[in-house]
Amino acid sequence: MVLRKEFFDLPEGVIYLDGNSLGPLPKGAKARVAEMMQDEWGAQLIKGWNSAGWMAQPSRVGDMVGRLIGASAGTVVMGDTLSIKVYQALAAALKMRPDRKVILSDSGNFPTDLYMAQGLIQMLDGGYELRVVEPEAVVDAIDDSVAAVMLTQVDYRTGRVHDMEAITELAHSSGAVMIWDLAHSAGALPVDLAACSCEFAVGCTYKYLNGGPGAPAFIYVRPDLADNVDPALAGWLGHEAPFAFDPDYRPAPGIERMRVGTPPVIQLTALEAALEVWEGVDMQDVRAASVALQEVFIREVEACVPELTLASPREAARRGSQVSFRFENGYAAMQSLIARGVIGDFRAPDIMRFGFTPLYLDEADVLAAVGHIETVMRDRLWDDPAFMARQRVT
Ligand SMILES: *Cc1c(COP(=O)(O)O)cnc(C)c1O
Repeated sequence: MVLRKEFFDLPEGVIYLDGNSLGPLPKGAKARVAEMMQDEWGAQLIKGWNSAGWMAQPSRVGDMVGRLIGASAGTVVMGDTLSIKVYQALAAALKMRPDRKVILSDSGNFPTDLYMAQGLIQMLDGGYELRVVEPEAVVDAIDDSVAAVMLTQVDYRTGRVHDMEAITELAHSSGAVMIWDLAHSAGALPVDLAACSCEFAVGCTYKYLNGGPGAPAFIYVRPDLADNVDPALAGWLGHEAPFAFDPDYRPAPGIERMRVGTPPVIQLTALEAALEVWEGVDMQDVRAASVALQEVFIREVEACVPELTLASPREAARRGSQVSFRFENGYAAMQSLIARGVIGDFRAPDIMRFGFTPLYLDEADVLAAVGHIETVMRDRLWDDPAFMARQRVT
């Protein structure tokens, strides 16, 4: 089965329903980073780029991520943050359709994805338009003016899932390039990039993949395109021969061209060890276990906590690995829950979001969490000035 609690260093007394925002610390990552600092950075110094394999790490770890999202070896590379990878994919996509001017996205997308598109449009200054429609209207909005369809598969607020294969097919039938953001998908549900045939996919690794705060992002380019896409950010480590120190940029063959600058080796080391937790884990089993936990959670919350209204799709197949409820005083309620050791998060204006990660959660955890939610609501424990003050990160 998929339960691997012993792999994680979770504080006593905490029920962690926020692995969808920041995964917990895998014990292996802690040990590996300590070792790397001492034995590699400390002892090998600059030789580590070769002797410890640091330079190859972005592709090596990319292949490990690739296995969890149905991408074949050599099609995924790590680096930068997701915002940067969104920008790169989008810029490359627009280059592929020079006669089209529309980027299509939806209002369920995470703001940074939309901001990156807005910034790129401004910089290109070429008459581009970002068209943002409701998630349900995406299908009808795809037409032959669209250069790129840029969507996040799982809505960060409600957990609503887009049908990747169907939308990709539609985009392609209109001649548009398809970009999928898998931020809330990688490590959460089975993704089959090879079957989906989208041109680009991007995602982060500090959510369900437990790579730690600031862990690097990934980018996938469909293999038949990888030798020809314009990487948009012409960094030296995406050059064909970085150590030739050629004054002119020539992109490397294949996915390596999507690299930009020096890789974050300490973060990649943490991530590499975190990904080992997934060895022998089948994403179909993770999905089944996640859905089972979510169903228990929804059933119990709806039975015991009438103040909360389900904000996620009721049908499991249409939800990712999170369940959101609306409550007018959701911020204070979540702060009150966190004070009791039940950690989820709040998304403005009124969403209480709970992530389900069966690697370290079981049904007993879910039932205990519901018990706390019931107490907080019944006794109005949230109605306390201490829980009302907004912190910088919510
Ligand atoms: C979490 C998330 C991001 C975060 O981007 P960073 O550059 O890593 O901060 C971007 N897009 C989506 C869809 C996300 O869920």
